[in-house]
Amino acid sequence: MSEGILLVLCGPSGVGKGAIKCTLLKRFSNLVHSVSATTRKARVGEVEGKDYYFISEKEFNHFIDNEELLEWAMVHDYYYGTPKKPVCQALEQGKDVLLEIDVQGALQIKENFEKAVLIFLLPPSVEELERRLRLRGTENEDQIQRRLKTAKWELTMVNKFDYVIINTVLESACEDVAAILRAEKLQSQDNKGVGTFAH
Ligand code: 5GP
Repeated sequence: MSEGILLVLCGPSGVGKGAIKCTLLKRFSNLVHSVSATTRKARVGEVEGKDYYFISEKEFNHFIDNEELLEWAMVHDYYYGTPKKPVCQALEQGKDVLLEIDVQGALQIKENFEKAVLIFLLPPSVEELERRLRLRGTENEDQIQRRLKTAKWELTMVNKFDYVIINTVLESACEDVAAILRAEKLQSQDNKGVGTFAH
């Protein structure tokens, strides 16, 4: 069985990563998402084990010390990390795995797992990003300003990614990610096919 594809979806807060992730998970039955661990508190409506594993800083440090995380980063004062075991197991079983993580984490993944496919989602403009952040209403003014500052730094990292998609219209951004996933799957099958015919 061929190993699944590790797809990393990245981009500034408010760009629409969550909405794209939901659409893709519904569309691709072989795609699973990784549930991250975080030290931030759950927001209203968030479910333990579905949106995140909400853990203490002590538990998070324990994960780091035991090398149980594929990557981790501090984002806006809280720790976030990807549990290693479920991701590796799913990939070995041939499942494609979607990580929705920040830029620091994505770059760590690429360093340790060259085959990972890194996608950066861009907003049509910084003004539009600010509008979307305000519209979702989950952050106060200070947090919005902080996220916009982080976004400006993240935008300087775009050239380190394999693919860049501008999320102007959700449906077409989803189509673009779907096209990348399909192309990546064909590529690995092609490589296998060449080997089979050559020998
Ligand atoms: P939020 O608190 O809004 O859910 O997420 C804040 C940021 O942390 C987002 O950019 C999100 O993609 C990122 N994030 C979520 N999970 C992880 C993770 O496991 N690792 C890293 N590096 N970033 C994460």
